[in-house]
Amino acid sequence: MENIIKGLKIAYLSLGCKVNAYETASIRNQLESYGCITVGFRDVADVYLVNTCTVTNIADRKSRQMLHQAKRRNSDAIVVAVGCYVQEFYRNHEQDDTIDLLIGNRRKSEIAAILSEYIACKKEGQETQQIYINEDEKLIEYEEMVIAGATENTRAYLKIQDGCNQFCSYCMIPYARGRISSRAQEDIIKEVVHLAQKGFRELVLTGIHLSSYGLEDATTSEQQKLKRKDGREPLLELISAISDVPGVSRIRLGSLEPRIMREEFVRELAKRTKVCPHFHLSLQSGCDETLKAMNRKYTTEEYLKCCDLLRKYYEAPAITTDVIVGFPGETEEQFVTSMEFAKTCGFAQMHVFPFSRRRGTAADRMPNQLTEEEKKNREHRMLAVAEQLEKRYRAQRAGHECILLTEESMEIDGRSWLVGHTGEYLMVAVPQENYTNNQLIRVRITENSRNNYILAEPLGLMEA
Ligand code: SF4
Repeated sequence: MENIIKGLKIAYLSLGCKVNAYETASIRNQLESYGCITVGFRDVADVYLVNTCTVTNIADRKSRQMLHQAKRRNSDAIVVAVGCYVQEFYRNHEQDDTIDLLIGNRRKSEIAAILSEYIACKKEGQETQQIYINEDEKLIEYEEMVIAGATENTRAYLKIQDGCNQFCSYCMIPYARGRISSRAQEDIIKEVVHLAQKGFRELVLTGIHLSSYGLEDATTSEQQKLKRKDGREPLLELISAISDVPGVSRIRLGSLEPRIMREEFVRELAKRTKVCPHFHLSLQSGCDETLKAMNRKYTTEEYLKCCDLLRKYYEAPAITTDVIVGFPGETEEQFVTSMEFAKTCGFAQMHVFPFSRRRGTAADRMPNQLTEEEKKNREHRMLAVAEQLEKRYRAQRAGHECILLTEESMEIDGRSWLVGHTGEYLMVAVPQENYTNNQLIRVRITENSRNNYILAEPLGLMEA
C-alpha cells in the first residue's frame, strides 16, 4: 500500500498526565516510522495532534483552546484530537468544526492507518470530520503501545496499565479511560530489554491506577480491595521480572494507592533493592469525612499505617502525595484536620490542588461548593505546610548517603557540576571531576540547598 503520510510535518502536544506523555511519545514514534517529520507545536505543520485531557472542566477548556490555536496557526492543517477529551466530546454529542479527526482511547495505536484513510478521503474531496471511537464504554482490552526511544536521557517511562475501577466522586477517568486493563508481562519485559540496551538506567512504571495492575480477572470485591484471595501480587511479580533484566539499575514506581502497602507487599518490595525509596501515595485529604465524600476507600488511620510500614522497611523513604483542598462541603475544621494530618505523615513533597469541578461527576453535583477565594486561601495554607515538610525532609538527609543517577552537566557559581536525582527523587549536584552522565554514584549530602540544588560529595561509583 502506498505510504501517503510520508513527509508530513506533524506537531504534537501532550496535555495532562504521564500516561498521556508516554502515549504521545509512542504515537510520535509510530508516525516517524512512516516517514513523518516532527516539528514544534508553534511551527507551521501539516498535522497538529493534541493528546487531550478531561480531568477537570479547566482541562477540557485547555484541550479545546490548544486545538483551536493549532487551526489558527495553519487553517489548512489537519487538527487531530486524541484521548480522554474525545471520549467525553463523543458522549456529550458535542460539536466543533475546528477538529478534523477525533480518536478516542484505545484506538491510539491505529493512528497511522486512521490518518492515511483521512488523507485518502480528503484527496477524493471528502473533507468531513471523522470520529474513531471504541464503542465499548468499559474499554476492557489493553492497547499495546511501545516507545522505541524514550523521553529523558537516563530515565524512561513505561506504561504498564490503563483504566480505573475506583470511581472517586470527583474523577471522570473511569469513564474516559474505561476499566482496568494490564499490559502483558512479556510485552513489558520486551520493552524493558530494549530500553536497557539503549542505555536507560532508570525505569518509571506508570499507569492510570498502577495498584490495580494484573487485577482485571479478580472479583469485583478483590479489585475494590486491591487484594486477591489467592495471595498473588501481580505488581510485585512484574517488579521482580523487571529487576532481573540486565542493565536496569533503578525502578521508580508511579502514583500508588496507599491500600496496596500491606506488610507482605512492603516486606517483599524492600527486598527488590532496585526499587527507589520514593513512594507517591495519593492521600487527597487528611480528614475522614472528606475522604468518604470523595469515595476514597481508606481512612487516615489506614493511610498512616502505610507510611509507618514504609518507614519500618526503608531507612528514610521519600513519601510524596497529592492533596485536594476545598472539596465540596469541606468545613474550616475539616480542612485544619487535613493540614494537621499532612504534618503527621511527614511528606517529603506534596502536590496541592484546589478542588476543580468536572461536569458529570458526583462531586460537581454536591451542595456547599466553596468559592474560588476560599479554595485559594486553603491552597496557600496547605502549600505553606508542604514547604515546611519538604525543608524538613531535605534537612534530615544532610550528612546521609544516597545513590545519585547523574543526568546532565551544569555550571553552578562558575564550577562544573553533574546534576541528577537520588533514589528519593532529590535533585542533587556533585562536582563533575571524574564522573560523567548516566552513572550511579554513591554520594553524601553536604549542603542542603544552593540555587535549588542539594549539594553532595561523591563517594564512588556504584558499579564498574
Ligand atoms: S483512583 Fe480515583 S482519582 Fe485515581 S483515576 Fe481512579 S477514580 Fe480517578
